[in-house]
Amino acid sequence: MNNYRVLLYYMYVPIENPEEFTAQHLKFCKDLELKGRILIAKEGINGTVSGTIEQTDIYMKTMKEDSRFAEMVFKIDVADSHAFKKMHVRHRSELVTLRLEDDINPNIVTGNYLSPQEFYEAMNTPDTVVIDARNDYEYEIGHFRGAVKPDIKNFRELPDWIQNNREMFEGKKILTYCTGGIRCEKFSGWLREEGFEDVSQLHGGIVTYGKDPEAQGKLWDGQCYVFDERIIVPINQTEHVIVGKDHFTGEPCERYVNCGNPECNKKIITSEENEHKHLRGCTHECRVHPRNRYVSEHNLSVEQVNERLAHINEVVVN
Ligand SMILES: [Zn+2]
Repeated sequence: MNNYRVLLYYMYVPIENPEEFTAQHLKFCKDLELKGRILIAKEGINGTVSGTIEQTDIYMKTMKEDSRFAEMVFKIDVADSHAFKKMHVRHRSELVTLRLEDDINPNIVTGNYLSPQEFYEAMNTPDTVVIDARNDYEYEIGHFRGAVKPDIKNFRELPDWIQNNREMFEGKKILTYCTGGIRCEKFSGWLREEGFEDVSQLHGGIVTYGKDPEAQGKLWDGQCYVFDERIIVPINQTEHVIVGKDHFTGEPCERYVNCGNPECNKKIITSEENEHKHLRGCTHECRVHPRNRYVSEHNLSVEQVNERLAHINEVVVN
């Protein structure tokens, strides 16, 4: 038990020949038998990998020997197995997809870095607005109490949304946060460029906040969505408020599944019971989709499908 680790890390640092480095790094990770997902761009690296204690030790040590990554901060979680199935290292044009007209270099412009305890204290200060810089499905399973949820589907829509809702933020102390901190580096820099003066970001992100001995994850409600097989991890060490709501019934729930329709694949929060009742489909169309994975995984006959649908007052003709 707990012989594995999950590492989460990023660094904005110029990488020359990023494509070549991507190929080398993939080989290095595969030789080490790590699993995970790493993005490499000319502006830096963003990764999350899992492996044994020994493997992850070698990885961190080797990375820090490279002068570009000497200052890299690794967030370390203990685990009892790998958190990924495969090892991917991919070259991208940017580490986080913002597609700004004028790109932001966080090494030049970014928000103030707040430690977890400073962030906690800042949240309790008047005239402060906390913005969640993540996607809606991440917010829905957990977020800081009272945080603003931008009405967007993708991170790259965030700048437009802020511009259309400027009055919510004018003259306020702005706090931004995301999972590990990488999205806020650019987002808070962009806010500064937009003319917002008092902008701060949670240094190390939510996962660091949850481990901090002082902040102890306080004022975090729900769980934190993570991009590996664990799906969610706990943050608040002092209390557990459930904010996730079952897609079908609205009941408190903290379990994510992907919609059974492969063409939809939407992340939905639902209990096992309701997943079975609704054939893991987020809508009627998804439930009766000819390639619904739930139906094939459970080898359900047409009669059995119709029986389930009848239970939720839906009918199907064939
Ligand atoms: Zn669906």
